[in-house]
Amino acid sequence: MILTQCAVCAAPLGLALGKKCGRCCTRYCGPACQAQHWKEGGHDKLCKKIKRGGGAEQYHANKKYEEAVAVAAETCAEDTKGQTCYICIEVLHWKTKEGLVRGCSCRGTAGFAHVSCLAEQAKILVAEGEEYNLDHKAKNARWGRWHTCGLCEQEYHGVVACAFGWACWKTYLGRPEETQVRRMAMSLLGSGLSDAGLNLDALSVGEAELSTLLRVGASEDAILGVQNNLANTYEKLGRLESLRMRRDVYLGYVKLLGEDDERTLISANNYAASLIEAERFEEAKSLLLKAIPATQRSLGESDDLTLKMRWYYAEALCRDDGTTLDDIREAETTLEDTARIARRVLGGAHPLTAGVEFCLRDSRAALRARETPPGSLQERVEYALRASQAVLDARETPLPGSLQESP
Ligand SMILES: [Zn+2]
Ligand SMILES: [Zn+2]
Ligand SMILES: [Zn+2]
Ligand SMILES: [Zn+2]
Repeated sequence: MILTQCAVCAAPLGLALGKKCGRCCTRYCGPACQAQHWKEGGHDKLCKKIKRGGGAEQYHANKKYEEAVAVAAETCAEDTKGQTCYICIEVLHWKTKEGLVRGCSCRGTAGFAHVSCLAEQAKILVAEGEEYNLDHKAKNARWGRWHTCGLCEQEYHGVVACAFGWACWKTYLGRPEETQVRRMAMSLLGSGLSDAGLNLDALSVGEAELSTLLRVGASEDAILGVQNNLANTYEKLGRLESLRMRRDVYLGYVKLLGEDDERTLISANNYAASLIEAERFEEAKSLLLKAIPATQRSLGESDDLTLKMRWYYAEALCRDDGTTLDDIREAETTLEDTARIARRVLGGAHPLTAGVEFCLRDSRAALRARETPPGSLQERVEYALRASQAVLDARETPLPGSLQESP
């Protein structure tokens, strides 16, 4: 359940408190709010419609999906002008009349599609995987189509990722609560919301997800994954517990999976981002010095995690109080290299490329300022402010849910 508030007064109800409308399952804190909703809130007219739409949770998800698709199509409108969907070959979707999107790293005329067409493909692929009872690796690859473009193999980002989050959640929310597919759908919704900057919504989904996992007795691995994503959301909301939480998640993964596992590396990267945010540059640098070679080994030079880590390392080098001219030069070389790879692999419009290039411009300015001394404190303070504003959104790496082998 992600509808965890009274529909009238928004009192938090967790997963079980309050009462539900007997027909459509809309939730209330008590009989007073329910009666008011019926008499004055229009529920007498909506109740049947919500019930026909599959109940409150489904109705809500369907509605949010339509809104998210409209936002995504609108945001992409300039890019998609004059194009057609590569799946249905139409401009407007035959049934929903939605417009086209492209939120991956496809270039040129490739990759334009309707969210509904792509979602339908993902749904069919996952359903076949279940029907033929494929192994978990093959199932995971099929699941990947909910968050990754099948053409350029890069993840969807921003408002497009958010539309896929709702698409996925509305498809699987009716499954029993303990099923992995439902939990992964919830997780995808949370990361899509946060990708679109809807941090309060992401927070309530993340909290619902964590309490579901704790209740059904999920594995420690799965719980750490949700905590990683919650810590990302806390950080974006400026909540102080994020740093401690990221450290705990990182240490939890080291203990559970060792230093070189991909999930450990993702959490190391997120912890480093928090350390930089807290201006604890020495700790950030030593963490990244350990994590970067491991990431290069296991994921390769052009993986976005490698790119992010090298970017943060350069940023920590530049922003540290004791920074030397050599440090800034090293940072600049690192950023130049990272920007080149990001541009080639992800394209110039990707938030990560934009973030790295922003830092590169600034480190060049810092270098010039240094070479014509003195580089003033004022300049560095301004740099730090601009950098943290511009890059915050591209920073975090969510942990995608993945199917675990059944014990
Ligand atoms: Zn209420
Ligand atoms: Zn009702
Ligand atoms: Zn289409
Ligand atoms: Zn693509």
